[in-house]
Amino acid sequence: MKKKASKELMKDINFRVILRKIFENGEISRASLAKTTGLSAATVSKIVSEQMDAGIVSEVGSEISTGGRKPILLSINPSFKIVFGVKIGLGYINLVITDLNGKLLLSGIEQTEPQIRPEKVVELVAGSLDRMRRSLAMPADRLLGIGLAVSGVVDPVAGIVRNSFLLEWEDVPIRQLIEQRVGAKTYVMNDVDSFSLAQMWKGKARNYRNAVFITLGSGVGGAIFLEGNLYSSRGGTGEIGHMTVVKDGRKCTCGSRGCLEAEASFEALANDIWKFSKTREVQRLYEEMKRTESSELEFIREALRIEGSMDEAFRNYSEIIGIALKNVVNIFAPEYILIGGEALEFKDHYLKESIEICKVNSFGRIVQGVTFDIDEMGELAWVLGAVYRVIEDTLFTVSTSLTGEVLE
Ligand SMILES: [Zn+2]
Repeated sequence: MKKKASKELMKDINFRVILRKIFENGEISRASLAKTTGLSAATVSKIVSEQMDAGIVSEVGSEISTGGRKPILLSINPSFKIVFGVKIGLGYINLVITDLNGKLLLSGIEQTEPQIRPEKVVELVAGSLDRMRRSLAMPADRLLGIGLAVSGVVDPVAGIVRNSFLLEWEDVPIRQLIEQRVGAKTYVMNDVDSFSLAQMWKGKARNYRNAVFITLGSGVGGAIFLEGNLYSSRGGTGEIGHMTVVKDGRKCTCGSRGCLEAEASFEALANDIWKFSKTREVQRLYEEMKRTESSELEFIREALRIEGSMDEAFRNYSEIIGIALKNVVNIFAPEYILIGGEALEFKDHYLKESIEICKVNSFGRIVQGVTFDIDEMGELAWVLGAVYRVIEDTLFTVSTSLTGEVLE
């Protein structure tokens, strides 16, 4: 019995290892698969033909060869399964259906109230998935799973949103709620983790193993990759936005004071713009925004349009971010730092200065090994990482229950 379990397990591991190699390489020959996995040519051949029978792998033409027989290349069949990705934002939900290469097949945005309740999210997810699947004429068994990205402290192992200040959620078992309603395997993760995973999959970050991701917007998010893996533990990792950058500073949504998120939020930036503004028009606009609780982003945009350069207003913002970058460099010595988020729109007003502050003040010469970059994927990245998580976990990760059988 034990022997049979081990044999089954080995087969499963080999199947998944080969599948991952094909996926990560895009196109690869059987010979290269044997070489890079250390498996025998016969084993590779046998497993690949099983994968082809299952429809997940196909042959896609041949490699350029320097003579002799040209080897046939293998590739994942991207339309073998589809993945449903969901990102809950503040006042909207972004929904996508992609193939196994992360190619968008359908997408949509649903406007919601800012603090949407979990039950409404579940209904919205179920309804949208149903509609999108019907419009693509896709049978239910084509769905590999659902990946959900949400802000706050998210335990990806338990599938529970422990605490989301933005949504005002506490201990919401969102994975279970969706799985019960929709009947599809669901993965839940922090939205900045999803953002970073997408960058490691499809962005320039793929060339690095140690990277830090910082998103600047209404709030400040962070995610950390160590040796090629997302550092996620049981949630709450990489919350760069809640490091203290000002003693007794502005009150933060988390209850503390002087957090990066509080000091470099759009709210703080808008406040500085108002303080340093030279025109009555901008001051009136600020009062109007406060009174109607409307978007700070809109105000910042409009103020910049009216007054042009606002060096004084952005000085504090660029210094605070410079300090945060310096701290990140000193703690992680990453090879790569990527800045994303809505505040990139104003990057010409602060980013160069922030990086300069980091470079001048960081420890030793660590910073010389850091590449600073900005996001080029935009909104899609926030949901694409959750899609990747579904693909990776369902297709390439050996399930622990199976390993358990052998260890018993
Ligand atoms: Zn905080």
